[in-house]
Amino acid sequence: MPENNAEPALYLIATPIGNLGDVTLRAIQLLGSVDRLYAEDTRHSQRLLQAIGVDRQALPCHEHNEQAVASDITRAIQNGLSCGLISDAGTPGISDPGFRVVRACTAAGLKVIPVPGPNAAVAALSASGLPTDQFLFMGFLPPRRAARLRVFEAHIEQSATLVFYESTHRIDKFLEDAESIFGPERIICLARELTKRHETLLTGTILEVRQALGKGSSKGEFVVLIAKSGYTL
Ligand code: SAM
Repeated sequence: MPENNAEPALYLIATPIGNLGDVTLRAIQLLGSVDRLYAEDTRHSQRLLQAIGVDRQALPCHEHNEQAVASDITRAIQNGLSCGLISDAGTPGISDPGFRVVRACTAAGLKVIPVPGPNAAVAALSASGLPTDQFLFMGFLPPRRAARLRVFEAHIEQSATLVFYESTHRIDKFLEDAESIFGPERIICLARELTKRHETLLTGTILEVRQALGKGSSKGEFVVLIAKSGYTL
């Protein structure tokens, strides 16, 4: 549906998590037509805008200025402007800036319009081979080991598939700690570099996945999924 004159609202525009071909037609159209475009890292987003032929500069909206930007955005929408928000990758607000802006707009009674598209958690879940009927998005775990172990312990008997984000620096520690709490036979999926050249999905017991990962590189971006207790492949 063409939206050349986007109505005054906040548009949460999902962008690719790796493969630029995943940008949606609606995202391209809105990225070019909203009155104001805000981006988590404006230099990073410039690459996407150039690739889709949108010649404009985004304004910054990141974790350090989000509260102030939220006020600017609500004022702009109240003055009849359309505002788009993108993050570095995937869906804004999902382990990325966005929530505080959405909350401010919602509290002010303004329209918030999702423009759905890529999301690493859902992409990983859909291809994992783990149950998809119930899942619990856990985002990033706390960096301190004791806190991480407490989160794992609280979910040992969880009936939903657990979905975590993890960085390349901590993936080995994550798996080591997961094995110590859930045991080596628990089924997990490691989804690495989704939609990119080195995309890898490893599904098996924690022991098997750790062994497979140990043989290759553990560089990249990861989604880790942990199946419910008792699940077998
Ligand atoms: N807003 C994004 C989304 O909708 O998925 C998530 C942003 S969060 C700051 C970044 C984390 O998402 C990474 O550390 C990784 O855990 C996960 N992630 C993002 N892109 C990924 C990809 N291509 N493959 C695997 N995991 C990815």
